[in-house]
Amino acid sequence: MLKLLKQIIFCNYLISPHFNVIILIINRKYYFYCLINIKQIAKTLSDSLVYSCKLLVLLHKQLDSSNSYLLKTMKVSVIRKAHFNAAHRLHNPAWSEEKNQEVFGVCNNPHYHGHNYNLEVKVTGEIDPETGYVIDTKKLSALIRSEIEDKFDHRNLNLDTLEFKDLNPTAEHIAIVIWEKLRAKIDGRFELGIRLFETERNYVEYNG
Ligand SMILES: [Zn+2]
Repeated sequence: MLKLLKQIIFCNYLISPHFNVIILIINRKYYFYCLINIKQIAKTLSDSLVYSCKLLVLLHKQLDSSNSYLLKTMKVSVIRKAHFNAAHRLHNPAWSEEKNQEVFGVCNNPHYHGHNYNLEVKVTGEIDPETGYVIDTKKLSALIRSEIEDKFDHRNLNLDTLEFKDLNPTAEHIAIVIWEKLRAKIDGRFELGIRLFETERNYVEYNG
């Protein structure tokens, strides 16, 4: 019994503490089960593995937060792309015109200029065992549209938005503003990352 238990502890499996699921990794294939659904496991796996699973279930029930070193979580990232066009001017009012020109170059043009901003929003979390999703991309897409695209698309960031009234609208600052807007609306159990492309070759990342 002790030998078998040791074998189980060191075999390839993951238990999600949040969703009561077990993921067995056999021959590099992932098997994803609710802990309560032993019959489903029996249909797919051999008797010995079913026995192991039952022991795992018992083991799992005995685990508490003090034993969390035995638990591993499996997280997946979902990435949604979005896009908006916006104008801006990079300028530091504390500097002379010459210094602004020297540092920001053409981006200091007093008549503003535009960019086609491409945005990638990365949401990382555990898979919901009922839907198989980490997050519903339809909901994520609607959130990005209402919080970001509707507010910034075809706007002059310096003149038309409160966010950049006193904040130099560099890609770095825009990424942080976007992250904060989305963070306020996305459940805290998810990790959030932003990648913002100002041009094809220049992009910034912010993960909070
Ligand atoms: Zn620019």
